[in-house]
Amino acid sequence: MNIMVEKQLLLSAEGIRIDGRRVDELRQVKMEVGVLKNCSGSAYIEQGKTKIIVAVHGPREAHPKHLALPDRALLRTRYHMAPFSTDERKSPAPTRREIELTKVIREALEPALLLEEFPKTTIDVFIEVLQADAGTRSAGITAASLALAEAGIPMRDLVTAVAVGKLNDRMVLDLNEEEDEHGQADMPVAMMPSLNKITLLQLNGRLTRDELIEGLRLAKKGIVALYEKQKQALKARFKQTLEAE
Ligand code: ADP
Repeated sequence: MNIMVEKQLLLSAEGIRIDGRRVDELRQVKMEVGVLKNCSGSAYIEQGKTKIIVAVHGPREAHPKHLALPDRALLRTRYHMAPFSTDERKSPAPTRREIELTKVIREALEPALLLEEFPKTTIDVFIEVLQADAGTRSAGITAASLALAEAGIPMRDLVTAVAVGKLNDRMVLDLNEEEDEHGQADMPVAMMPSLNKITLLQLNGRLTRDELIEGLRLAKKGIVALYEKQKQALKARFKQTLEAE
């Protein structure tokens, strides 16, 4: 395989990507809050071809009881890829990757939540990837914070996430699967945007210091745009409720 050819395809000399985006452009994003009826909160997100649904249950009495924490709610997450979400057949048993993402997503959400307001309860967040085209942990986090907000869990801020990466030695925003697979690096970032605090930062690949700074600048730009969409989706959800009353 000719790597140069592959690199050229990923990013043209004019800085145009395989799907026609510029380096600092997000994919098309759609968010909706309140898409399921049998849970406390739910949200759906499409980011390019990535499609994820999130359901939140709780806070509810911890079961089994020995799990209960005396001073706060226990936050549990589950990141799961539907068997039809990838082109390869995925084993129904949780993979190592799903177990890792379950943990990093919980750690990205937890700093935003006022869990101390619900001692001895559990809050469950189910993240179901319906279609994967990269960026599923970040889109999952963005949708999960919407579902948690709909469930009425008090929070310091929403959490908003996006991945940036390196193609052809340039930093780009919001990788799709082809870019994630053939690119030189990818770096998911989650933030509480109003508080300007990072709750998740991972890096797969190598970046120079300047590339890291540029990556964070691009991530912030994407996060600010996604945050606006989150707020719009929440407003649309509660406008519906008010109109129905
Ligand atoms: P993220 O989805 O957060 O970017 P990864 O970097 O691990 O996480 O995965 C990148 C992408 O690779 C996924 O979004 C998905 O499109 C694809 N992928 C991951 N696991 C599988 C798998 N088991 N089979 C096929 N594609 C996969």
